[in-house]
Amino acid sequence: MKSIRDIYKIGKGPSSSHTMGPERAAKYFKAEHPEADAFRVILYGSLSKTGVGHGTDRVLMEVLSPLPTEIVFSKEDLVGSHPNTMDFIALKDGAEVGTLRVESIGGGDIKVPGQAHLDSPEVYPENSFAEIADFCKWRYIDKLSDYVELNEGEEIWDFLMDVWQTMKQAIADGLAAEGVLPGGLNVQRKAKELYEKDPGTHEPGLLEFQKIAAYAYAVAEQNAGNGTIVTAPTCGACGVVPAVLKYAQDTKGFTDEQIIRGLATAGIIGSLTKRNASISGAECGCQAEVGTACSMAAAALAELYDQNLDQVEYAAEVAMEHHLGLTCDPICGLVQIPCIERNAVAAMRAMNACNLSYFLTGSRRISYDMVCRAMHETGINLNHRFRETSEGGLAKIYARRK
Ligand code: SF4
Repeated sequence: MKSIRDIYKIGKGPSSSHTMGPERAAKYFKAEHPEADAFRVILYGSLSKTGVGHGTDRVLMEVLSPLPTEIVFSKEDLVGSHPNTMDFIALKDGAEVGTLRVESIGGGDIKVPGQAHLDSPEVYPENSFAEIADFCKWRYIDKLSDYVELNEGEEIWDFLMDVWQTMKQAIADGLAAEGVLPGGLNVQRKAKELYEKDPGTHEPGLLEFQKIAAYAYAVAEQNAGNGTIVTAPTCGACGVVPAVLKYAQDTKGFTDEQIIRGLATAGIIGSLTKRNASISGAECGCQAEVGTACSMAAAALAELYDQNLDQVEYAAEVAMEHHLGLTCDPICGLVQIPCIERNAVAAMRAMNACNLSYFLTGSRRISYDMVCRAMHETGINLNHRFRETSEGGLAKIYARRK
């Protein structure tokens, strides 16, 4: 399994697979072809269908400038290819001097068929939760965060501290921002209002929801506004983990050093899901993005609350199980509706999953590995309309409203 560094990428929103991945691919291709005097990029599948709303064309033009660049939104169905595929073509005096097919596989990662050197290295010998749990029990390791340090070295803590500081900054920036999000949907930022609104009650459940939701909105709105966020595991789902961890820090007084141990555990859940299922909305729907984020947050919380390895696994499993089948149907191809609100709802679900794991772990029947397999099977069988194409569900109904 690969490093948890692959799960947490600091960058600008709104989409890890539609902006961060293409940005990385364009930089690589440009560096490979210094002789080019123009470029053409052909986008397929979800990249073609929601590329404008997600800003794919904008980021490609930025990277490939100042050379003239043509972006083609292809309607061709590349049977058997990843739903986020793009072809780069380098031109010189009008003739092709180089081509490259790249897949944006989620979380900002790219894959070039036949070029394994672009893949990040394998860091963990174990590839499933069952293998990790066996190893930890055999080595008397109680915490997934210790397992992370064993494999990634002590340097991982500096990396995770940067991640956590960026997450907190995104919350602060999002809570301070006002106005309308870009993209033309006229969506007002709500985090500040949500955070400051007098609920008119001291009912603890409502106050808890208000704060967690405000944090999740803050980060997700920063993402939608092209602000700096951390993928966890993707841009679209970037608000869930920070919201839950910030609330835990506020209410339980966890230090930053303790919080990043939760991030390490969450990273393992994200890496396992990426390896054994998917974290790409275009590949497996929103269950792969927000569902994974919810599992990561629940596992992080369980680690912070000193739950044992079985309970951590159960928290992550419950969080994913009740996102199974969740479609990706963003209105107008923007990462705004339903994405922002969904981050807040998933953050609350993560809290609930962690509470359930505290009481019921002993009677569970489903493992995290099983729910991952179910998520993948469900995802690849979802109709393409519900996998980040904006051709079905809310996106379709909204487009046809009267
Ligand atoms: S609906 Fe979910 S998967 Fe789709 S763009 Fe929004 S957050 Fe990402």
